[in-house]
Formats: sequence, structure tokens, C-alpha cells
Amino acid sequence: MQTGTLYTVSAPSGAGKTSLVKALVDGDSQVTVSVSHTTRSMRPGEQHGVNYHFVDRDEFLQMLDRDAFLEHAQVYGDNYYGTSKEWVEETLASGRDVILEIDWQGAAQVRRLMPGTVGIFILPPSQEALRERLTGRGQDEQSVIERRMEQAIDEMSHYVEADYLVINDNFDQALHELRAIVIAQRQRLKHQQERCGDLLQALLKRA
Ligand code: GDP
Ligand code: ADP
Ligand code: 5GP
Repeated sequence: MQTGTLYTVSAPSGAGKTSLVKALVDGDSQVTVSVSHTTRSMRPGEQHGVNYHFVDRDEFLQMLDRDAFLEHAQVYGDNYYGTSKEWVEETLASGRDVILEIDWQGAAQVRRLMPGTVGIFILPPSQEALRERLTGRGQDEQSVIERRMEQAIDEMSHYVEADYLVINDNFDQALHELRAIVIAQRQRLKHQQERCGDLLQALLKRA
């Protein structure tokens, strides 16, 4: 049975990773995005089980005790975020690709645990654009935006740990580049050998 590829997509808050990943997943039925658990409060328009599984701190810590997370991290102050181990393992085993939209700390944990992971980093075209997008999204308070801007430079400095870098200036161009990464990954020899085993055997058979 062919297994899917695990991707991490990291970016400073406001760089556009959620919008880009949503557009990628909407146009490719083989790719799914993992819904994280978080202790942060729900933003206007967010839905439980769609954007995140929103849980309280006690519930999160109980899950941590049960070893339910593939990785977890504390991001932007005292909010916990974590990725469900069971869901990721089952989805990869079913042959679908999985995207984890997680911060650099989480991406580093996942890379250590699962060495075949492909790391993608998304950066904004400028610091000004990042601030405008965070403000324009209109879902965070000014103090939250300021805190995220302060942490953005730290987060961005981790781009060097990724395998691929996408600059999200023009949205359609960035989406095109993201799709190209996923497609190129599928053509890697090891994946093609799993997918096209019968064909490869037939082509090399002598009469
Ligand atoms: P956004 O960055 O504006 O989309 O804000 P979010 O609240 O959705 O995400 C906050 C941070 O938590 C980001 O850096 C995410 O990459 C990170 N994050 C989200 N889910 C997870 C997760 O399951 N694990 C880890 N380690 N980080 C996560
Ligand atoms: P993240 O998940 O990285 O925090 P979002 O996907 O929520 O980022 O995007 C932040 C804001 O920036 C959203 O309002 C989104 O519509 C906008 N945005 C995303 N990509 C672009 C782009 N290329 N040009 C202009 N605005 C963008
Ligand atoms: P936000 O609160 O704006 O939704 O997310 C803030 C940050 O947390 C983002 O950078 C996001 O990628 C990260 N994040 C979201 N879910 C997870 C997760 O499950 N694990 C980790 N490590 N980071 C996460």
C-alpha cells in the first residue's frame, strides 16, 4: 500500500499560509490538511472541528498525557497547539498527503520523528505587507497584532530549516508554486515505484 507524503507549512502569522493551503487542498483531492487542537479562543467565523479543535487547557494537557500528539508547541504566549498523531498516521496510511500548518518548533519535532517530511516555508513580500495583512484580516485585537509582529522576525528566521521557500506576494503565483512542489514530490522515483510498480515491471520484461 502506497503511503502519502507529510508536509509542514510554516510562516509568520499573516503571511497567508491558511489561505494558500486552503486553496491547494480545495483543488487537489489527494491532499488533506490536519486540523490542530488549540487552547486559543475562537476567532469570528471560525468553526470547531474545521479550523481547529478548540479545547481548554485541562483537556489539552490530558491529551498530552495520553501521548495523543505527534507534536505540540506553545505559540504566541500561553496558547497551546498540537497535532493529532492518530489522524495523521491513519491518513498517510490511506495514501493521502497530509499538510501540517504548524509553527517552526512543531516542524522541527515532526522532521525528527518522521524523516521523510517535506518542509515548506511561506514568507510575505515585506514586513509592511505582513502588518497590513494581519490588520486587514480584522480578526485579532491590536495588542495581539503587535505581539505577532514582534514574533514574526523570530519565526521568519527559521526559513533556513525548510526544504522549499515560497514568497507570497502575488497569491496566484504563490499557489502555483505550492502546487508545483506537491506535484514534483509525487514524481520522485520512490513514489513512482510504489504507484507504478506493475507498469515498471511490465516495461522491463523480456519476451
Ligand atoms: P495564523 O498563523 O494567523 O494562522 O494563526 P493560528 O492561530 O492559526 O496559528 C498560530 C500558530 O500556531 C502558527 O504558527 C501555526 O503554525 C501554529 N500551529 C497551528 N497548529 C499547530 C499545531 O498543531 N502544532 C504546532 N506545533 N503549531 C501549530
Ligand atoms: P496565516 O494563516 O499565515 O496567518 P492568512 O491566510 O490568514 O495567513 O492570511 C492573512 C491575510 O492576508 C488574510 O486576510 C488573507 O486574505 C490575506 N492574504 C493572503 N495572501 C495574500 C496575498 N498574496 N496578497 C494580499 N493579501 C493576502
Ligand atoms: P493562530 O492562533 O493565528 O491560528 O496561529 C498561530 C500560530 O500557531 C501559527 O503560526 C500556526 O501555524 C501555529 N499552529 C497552529 N496549529 C499548530 C499546531 O498544531 N502545532 C504547532 N506547533 N503550531 C501550530
